[in-house]
Amino acid sequence: MAPTAAQRLVIENCAIATVDARDTEYASGHVVIAGDTIEAVGPGPAPAGAEGARRIDGTGHLLTPGLVNTHHHFYQWLTRGLATDDNLFDWLTALYPVWGRIDERMLHAAAQGSLAMMVRGGVTTAADHHYVYPRGAGDLTGAIVRAAAGLGVRLTLARGSMDLGESDGGLPPDFAVESLEGALAATEEAVDTHHDPSPDAMTQIAVAPCSPFSVSTELLRQSADLARRKGVRLHTHGSETVEEEKFCHERFGMGPTDYFESTGWLGGDVWMAHCVHMNDSDIEAFARTGTGVAHCPSSNARLAAGIARVPDMLAAGVPVGLGVDGTASNESGELHTELRGALLINRLGRHRERALGARQALRLGTFGGATVLGRADRIGSVEPGKLADLVLWRMDTLAHASIEDRVTALVFGAPAPVTLCLVGGRPVTEDGRVLGADEDAIARATRQEARRLAGLVDLN
Ligand code: ZN
Repeated sequence: MAPTAAQRLVIENCAIATVDARDTEYASGHVVIAGDTIEAVGPGPAPAGAEGARRIDGTGHLLTPGLVNTHHHFYQWLTRGLATDDNLFDWLTALYPVWGRIDERMLHAAAQGSLAMMVRGGVTTAADHHYVYPRGAGDLTGAIVRAAAGLGVRLTLARGSMDLGESDGGLPPDFAVESLEGALAATEEAVDTHHDPSPDAMTQIAVAPCSPFSVSTELLRQSADLARRKGVRLHTHGSETVEEEKFCHERFGMGPTDYFESTGWLGGDVWMAHCVHMNDSDIEAFARTGTGVAHCPSSNARLAAGIARVPDMLAAGVPVGLGVDGTASNESGELHTELRGALLINRLGRHRERALGARQALRLGTFGGATVLGRADRIGSVEPGKLADLVLWRMDTLAHASIEDRVTALVFGAPAPVTLCLVGGRPVTEDGRVLGADEDAIARATRQEARRLAGLVDLN
């Protein structure tokens, strides 16, 4: 049934960066939305025929696709600001005992905090990699799905797992890991209960064992089989630090990428967080197989992991998106920091000023993210027929008004205020405030739950 005028929304008089295949931009243009779908995009005011629609004057604004966050750990919202001067392995060792006490109520508050922070900053799709499932903690998967639904955000929940405890030579303490069979059964149940395979899905599930140093080879292999049997995507951490590389060489006699390939973990249905320590043949293997990367520059800097070779990956044709990573290693928790961080940190690498430009960074944070999550056919760019996941950024205030080029202002500048953020045509943020929940109540709940968690372990 054709949408009525009442279901139409017109946004006009704004600059538009479509992030389509040709990077089409309009200095002043319009978008017409019918129901949950973009009906028209173009220069100048909206064409005749949209009379009676709700009209939004976007003067002084830039409209872009919604930002896509490809890697996060929502639960870490309760353990921000701890072990601030450690590398990955020391930081993990310090925090595993705290994370091992998380429960359903804590996780729901943490997920709300993580999601609200992203949504108020223009994120419309978020991936949460959750791999901590203490015994008796309640319905943790359900808590994350409920929080995303409440805020109206598109969610890819990467159901994680760990089965390689300390006594088996892994990094996590034994009490924080699941059994191989238990992890696989619970992951399959999460897919059966929550995964929506449709192109306009609000919730999708991926199979996501945590990392080579916390997961057995058998769990990696069987997880790949499970995901392919169910037709869902695969996610994990890969090649994050020199310590991980050393671990893989000592334990498996090969580097992380070769290890992943040997366990069925390279492919167009796989994306991995970080991929910092990649040699030329690793990058070639990712490109050849279509394996995606979630680039997390802030977390990589925070944990002194190194600089991922993003320009080389892009030149080779590797799909790359951006990730916040957990907020225990990136306390800011919003994606603008990663747009700007990707741009700046990659210029500290060997390609220097030619590493990345503002438009490439915006592409990583939108279309690139949609690609690695397997959703680029419906989200990630502003084009007719795609879902109306859009952000209207205010660019005429003190922070940005003196920068003529709006995309440059958005990426190089301070985080821009969000006047409107839509997911499937539905407003989730207006005038910088999230609509699906009370931000102040979330702030109070996260403070309370963070203290309750800290009270269960001796943090001092
Ligand atoms: Zn991570």
